[in-house]
Amino acid sequence: TRLSLSDPDLWRQQALIDGRWCAADGGATCAVHDPADGLALGTVPDMGAAETRRAIAAAHAAFPAWAGKTAKQRAQVLRRMFDLMLEHREDLARLMTAEQGKPLAEARSEIAYAASYFEWFGEQAKRMDGEVIPGHVDGVRILTLRQPVGVVAAITPWNFPSAMLGRKLGAALAAGCTVVCKPAIQTPFSALALGMLAERAGLPPGVLNIVTGQDAAAIGQEMTSNPQVRKLTFTGSTAVGKRLMAQCADDLKRLSLELGGNAPFIVFDDADLDAAVAGAIASKFRNSGQTCVCANRLLVQDGIYDAFAEKLVAAVRTLRVGPGLSDASDQGPLIDAKALEKVEAHVADALAKGARLALGGRRHALGGTFYEPTVLLEATPSMRLAQEETFGPVAPLLRFRDEQEAIALANATAFGLAGYFYTRDLARAWRVSEALQCGMVGLNTGLISTEVAPFGGIKQSGFGREGSQHGLHDYTEIKYVCVGGL
Ligand code: ADP
Repeated sequence: TRLSLSDPDLWRQQALIDGRWCAADGGATCAVHDPADGLALGTVPDMGAAETRRAIAAAHAAFPAWAGKTAKQRAQVLRRMFDLMLEHREDLARLMTAEQGKPLAEARSEIAYAASYFEWFGEQAKRMDGEVIPGHVDGVRILTLRQPVGVVAAITPWNFPSAMLGRKLGAALAAGCTVVCKPAIQTPFSALALGMLAERAGLPPGVLNIVTGQDAAAIGQEMTSNPQVRKLTFTGSTAVGKRLMAQCADDLKRLSLELGGNAPFIVFDDADLDAAVAGAIASKFRNSGQTCVCANRLLVQDGIYDAFAEKLVAAVRTLRVGPGLSDASDQGPLIDAKALEKVEAHVADALAKGARLALGGRRHALGGTFYEPTVLLEATPSMRLAQEETFGPVAPLLRFRDEQEAIALANATAFGLAGYFYTRDLARAWRVSEALQCGMVGLNTGLISTEVAPFGGIKQSGFGREGSQHGLHDYTEIKYVCVGGL
């Protein structure tokens, strides 16, 4: 096989339902490809509604016992999960790079990041505190309890195959929920490996189920219509998020939606330009620009526009493009042909509307889905790449005159996930932080993701928070008990 791991058991080609590794009912499979060369890596079961229903039933049956454990007992399993992920970090990273394409160094960081959610939420599970509220009339006291919402369905994307799942699983399992998840069909092996480790960590059968298949709509339909599911948590596109929300309306399921973004990255005249360039590279080019918090539009103030552009081009020029498994790569391939076509279309549209190419702007000589890291100057709000997520290694620089214009440009989008800005002016730092319409702000930093902070968006980037104590609360219901007769 093409994938050699030191623990070959972590590479599963079956789905996980009720503690059993299984095939699809009719035995159908779908192939998983390495985006670096397009070759087949292996297969996973091609499941649909029937298998999903069984997985949900298993999660439903496992719920009372899992919810009934003490927080400490659940935390012990999650802690073992964390330890196992770090112990097998290299295998997990190789598996991820093989199916997703990102450079190994990024895959290793992602495994540590994904694992951190199990550690954090295990610890926080012990702090699922309620309250005692003084009574409103004589002889009454008021209690609040936090209880797990129940069976959770989780649908995750291909860009962070391990971390997007870790965030959801860590919180849900810590709270006492049981889970059925559906990883993206491009990257199912990372999820299945977590299933294997969860089993080794001592997670009881049925508490975590993993369904794979290419008919996402059929699996999603079962998840959203099955009354045993009490919450849907989704990370992916805004279009699919809206559809899932509509499907959940009938049953009023709880929802967490982490959807697309269109992050502004503002560089003010008073910024530390070298720091801003480093932040822009980290934010824009991580995972070849395929992250939902990627800087999508670089807004640069007049006075430093040329200086910033020159420094940025010099830094982007040093990025090495190549297969993720090679240690000499900073930029892997895009996930598939569709992603490549979108990047090409955005660049062509920008050039047609007057943008100037400073670097890149075409497919990479390596072929396949590799694209050259690209910098475009004099981009404007009317260009597609200023309006939609490009999800590729393209940095368009827009120009602005003053703070007011920067804020107006930054907020001129239906999305509101992340926003970044660089300034050394304290008052401006406050003003702009408060004015940006987004769920997360990077002030003088391009990297904002951590398990201890609440990750999530506003506007059409969705709602709900992942990470932090807020992330745990999103998997709980508040019950209030009115205690009378005292
Ligand atoms: P991306 O552009 O990142 O592929 P998607 O929103 O299409 O964004 O995919 C994110 C996840 O949503 C994937 O796991 C995908 O299989 C799943 N998905 C896509 N369409 C549907 C659907 N109609 N119902 C449920 N899940 C879906």
